[in-house]
Amino acid sequence: MTEQETDGSAADIELSTGVQFLKHVGPHRAPLLRRLGLKTAGDVLFFFPRDYEQLGEQCQVDQLEEGAAVSIVGTVSQIDTRRIGRRRQMLVVQVDDGSGQLSCTWFNQPFMRARFEVGQRVMISGQVKLRDGVWEITHPRTIHLHEDESPPDTTILPVYPLTEGLSQFHLRRIISDVARQLGPTIEEVFPDGLLEEKKLLAIQPALEQIHHPQEMAEVEEARYRFVYQELLALQLALALRRWSLSRDRLAAELPATEKIHQRILGRFPFQLTTPQERVIAEISSDMARQVPMNRLLQGDVGSGKTVVAEYAMLLAVAHGFQAVLMVPTEILAMQHLRTLQQDLSQSQVRIASLTGSLSTADRRQTLAGLKDGTIDLVVGTHALGHEDVQFQGLGLVVIDEQHKFGVQQRAVLKKTALAPHYLVMTATPIPRTVSMVLFGDLEVSLLESGPAHQQQVQTRLAGPAERTGWWEFYRRTLREGRQGYVITPLVDASNDAQLAGVEQTYEALANGELEEFRLGLIHGRLPAEEKNRVMQQFAEGTIQVLVATSVVEVGVNVPNATIMTIEDGQQFGLAQLHQLRGRIRRGKHEGFLCVFADPATEESHQRLKALVEMNDGFKLAEVDFELRGPGDLFSTRQHGLPPFRIARLPADFPILEEARQDAREMVRQDPGLQDPERATLRRRVLIRYGDVLDLGDVG
Ligand code: ADP
Ligand code: MG
Repeated sequence: MTEQETDGSAADIELSTGVQFLKHVGPHRAPLLRRLGLKTAGDVLFFFPRDYEQLGEQCQVDQLEEGAAVSIVGTVSQIDTRRIGRRRQMLVVQVDDGSGQLSCTWFNQPFMRARFEVGQRVMISGQVKLRDGVWEITHPRTIHLHEDESPPDTTILPVYPLTEGLSQFHLRRIISDVARQLGPTIEEVFPDGLLEEKKLLAIQPALEQIHHPQEMAEVEEARYRFVYQELLALQLALALRRWSLSRDRLAAELPATEKIHQRILGRFPFQLTTPQERVIAEISSDMARQVPMNRLLQGDVGSGKTVVAEYAMLLAVAHGFQAVLMVPTEILAMQHLRTLQQDLSQSQVRIASLTGSLSTADRRQTLAGLKDGTIDLVVGTHALGHEDVQFQGLGLVVIDEQHKFGVQQRAVLKKTALAPHYLVMTATPIPRTVSMVLFGDLEVSLLESGPAHQQQVQTRLAGPAERTGWWEFYRRTLREGRQGYVITPLVDASNDAQLAGVEQTYEALANGELEEFRLGLIHGRLPAEEKNRVMQQFAEGTIQVLVATSVVEVGVNVPNATIMTIEDGQQFGLAQLHQLRGRIRRGKHEGFLCVFADPATEESHQRLKALVEMNDGFKLAEVDFELRGPGDLFSTRQHGLPPFRIARLPADFPILEEARQDAREMVRQDPGLQDPERATLRRRVLIRYGDVLDLGDVG
């Protein structure tokens, strides 16, 4: 298939034109473009280079000077492969440009041979050397030119992300053609004032400069504009959501008077740590105001977030309002319910739970209680977001382990007369860069250290030879009265014989290494009642060892459990491993973790090494983020946001911060972005983020 089939049609294209109708695309390449996420001409126009190649000045062979970086355009006249010694191989391609001959050489790259044929036109770039009277470039950059094609008119070539079957050459041609046709028709997104104030390049020259720069400074300037645009759009979307959630809806003022404060503290079985006190003060000052609180509480595993949440909930209840605690799993819901019931057993606070596994009768009763106000506190899962959940007077929503929910879920529970205050908690410490993206609309509180007695965990990475010794130690720890976990990555090993399935592991341990102990099994596919029963027994100590998948990753709190084995550690992410480790640093006894792993890649090796060396979740989060690389979009994709087109984090963090401040200021001055000057910007924001962030009612 050739390009000719589309070359004939000179029809005008628009932003919405499908890629299959573009010049040089045709039915063969259209699916390849779609694989890159490019469906329309507009997508192609805003598909940005991931890098640039810098070529030397174009020059003729008879004008060459020793050591110069140049580009030569000519025809391949001869191709030779030679052996040098016993191991080395050299490929020599002669290029003739009419004025002389240039020798291009490659060492030990036999695959290069297939890329050349005699008679082919090429542009060769690199540094020239004169060797035995012949000009030579070693490992030059090569651009293949079609017979009639003129060489690039610039020395900087864009390098686009590719997909298999699509060459850089073809993609450049397709994009360059779209840019030439559509570039000059593109409407500016930013108001004039903003362009001027931020010294931003206008959109048309920016498109030209990003795809066809004449010098690298032009790339910088254009890139800054688009990165800023992308991050500003996201931050505006977040700011708009924050505005729409609280628009015309004030929250109840819930001040913590001294009397209330003392009464709440009296419920806790321990003294607050200093960080807990500070964070509680931040929260109470938010809740005392009519503007709904929107706060993110970040704290490492075991830093004691639960009691902070409890404080906030009791503050709402003290003023006659209801409070909700929403968690990602049933196990956590049940655990929080038990904690609350214990702490509040002497009080009149009425507590209920709402999860998917509630019987119809219980569910009906809870719903009735929430509606008529006979229930003060409710702990539950997603089930809380269901249509028919109504409140008599909802004052506060706490969302625990927010990172498990994704960005959308935060909007639930907003159909109440007064706007509730929001407290969002996350135990996966996320780097500031990421939290600004995901929670750009929140104020942030940090619980940087845990309760005084909190233990460090001794972590080691082990191979098969150390198994016997480790299990010996594990048994000794159990005999001393401690409890333990054994974590495996998969529920069922039958698909992948290499990985330890949780059931097989359970069987093997129960009949082997741990046969003298009481074992329990828990994983995501068990019915909710079964899970609750097992967790309950583990919490009471009836079960000594819990064999589990990562369902115990979040929040589970059994202080007497201090020892953990993780199988196939390479299968887990760093944040996840740290979360798992958090399960055994919750009591008075020191924790011990042994990770058995087969780190197949350098990245997984680094990850496991970091886990062994560092106990601080915030530092680990930064390491994790670096290991995954700036190109990785986990932060957006995993949380349901569309991936960035150009911004790269953490490198673009300063621009992110700038965009966030500007967005907040803009929304403060012009809350719904109603100013006609901002109409285009507003439209871009809604197109990109309207659905995912549920901005429908921004109007
Ligand atoms: P996380 O931040 O991971 O949710 P938790 O709230 O579950 O942590 O607290 C971890 C453990 O520390 C729990 O056993 C809790 O009872 C205990 N704890 C929390 N705050 C204090 C405190 N101020 N003094 C003593 N123990 C505390
Ligand atoms: Mg917790």
